[in-house]
Amino acid sequence: MQNLLYFFASIIFYCSVRSQDHRQYRQVHDASGRLQPPPPFNESYQMIVLTGGKVYGTPVEANTATEDLCMPHRKDVVMAGGRILSMMEPSKTAAFINSIRDSQLTILPISVQDQIIIPGLVDVHVHAIGGGGEQGPYSRTPESHLSQLIRGGLTTIVGILGTDGVTRSLSSLLQKMKSLEHDGLSTWMWTGSYRIPIVTLTGSLQQDVLLIDKVLGAGELALSDHRSSWPSKSELKQLLSDVRVAGMLSGKSGVIHFHMGSAPTKIDLLWQILNETTIPIQHMYLTHMSSRGDDLIAEARKWIKAGGMCDFTADAEMLNETDTINTLNKFRAEKLPLKQITVSSDAYGSFPQYDSSGRLISYSMGLPDLTLRTIQNLVLKHSWPVEEAIQFSTANPATYLNLKRKGFLAEGYDADILVLNQTDLSPLYVFGRGQILKTPTWIKHDMFEHISGSP
Ligand SMILES: [Zn+2]
Repeated sequence: MQNLLYFFASIIFYCSVRSQDHRQYRQVHDASGRLQPPPPFNESYQMIVLTGGKVYGTPVEANTATEDLCMPHRKDVVMAGGRILSMMEPSKTAAFINSIRDSQLTILPISVQDQIIIPGLVDVHVHAIGGGGEQGPYSRTPESHLSQLIRGGLTTIVGILGTDGVTRSLSSLLQKMKSLEHDGLSTWMWTGSYRIPIVTLTGSLQQDVLLIDKVLGAGELALSDHRSSWPSKSELKQLLSDVRVAGMLSGKSGVIHFHMGSAPTKIDLLWQILNETTIPIQHMYLTHMSSRGDDLIAEARKWIKAGGMCDFTADAEMLNETDTINTLNKFRAEKLPLKQITVSSDAYGSFPQYDSSGRLISYSMGLPDLTLRTIQNLVLKHSWPVEEAIQFSTANPATYLNLKRKGFLAEGYDADILVLNQTDLSPLYVFGRGQILKTPTWIKHDMFEHISGSP
């Protein structure tokens, strides 16, 4: 084990601790005149160890007893090289830290005594370059802010275009996702927009999925919405078979993420396609399913029972929404398979509300902390076990979308980690691939050694 650790540490070429708050955005020119990326945080550690926390979100082993499923693991988390190197027995951690210090490798122990450690959140629906615009140019929503995404506990996001596929472009979205990746998040994207024929980066849906690593599938393609292009059944069949085959060839999940509106046609076309073809239901990923009234919630129930995957848009508290929390409570009571549900924020997307004649009555914007707020609400107000409440933004989306090394805390997984205050579940630390993205505001970096010490 020790040799393995030394070997692992010695091959780390980039394992620096960076602080969002302390980052210097100096532009440095090298001798060739090329612009260099901003330097990492001035102190670097080859390992970070979280000691004393309660760990949730580990992969469930086959022989786990039901009563143990929701119990936290008392393990110390060792991060190195962007991954979780070890989930260590706390009794062994002090000796381990000393041995690393003796080896002159740098190690940063952080005491998070009794605080809650969960996987970084995965958000499948983020309008990373803004969205909206339904009320004319002034109503375009702004581009995402890295600091807001991090404060929302998001370490993996899937970017999306939305209604406007003309003045917002996929190339701009792709570049934004690369930029956020540089800053410590893990990013993917959906190609296309609301409408058909879909906009693409390369000229075809299949090429986008197959040739561009960040593209997981297409979305959000609008169905049964007054802003939809009302695709025909045959057009949908074609797209679904294209995305399925491209997914197979690329090793991705190959799905179409459908934006659902509130028109009475609901998901009728998709049921028909399921009846008429052999395209598996797994390639149709429906979103906003809890936000459009009881009829669509009933469809969500049927869809989940048929083996399909539904995404619920997190409730916007400023609009006094409770639909998603209510639906989750209801579906849990009905013992539906909750693994087939994800929750996303719809961050930076517009939230227009219309009256029955289609007239706009209010206009607001989703924020990236809504997924974390959903977890807080489920646990603090509705007494859900932490383990169950986090699945919608950790294990479930990572597993469904085949995001390797995401969504769980275990050795070999990416060190995307969220440390939450045990009392109010507010984020204390956020780690993206082993880098510190957020620290509590009251901690200065030079205090780390003082607050941590030996466990
Ligand atoms: Zn949408």
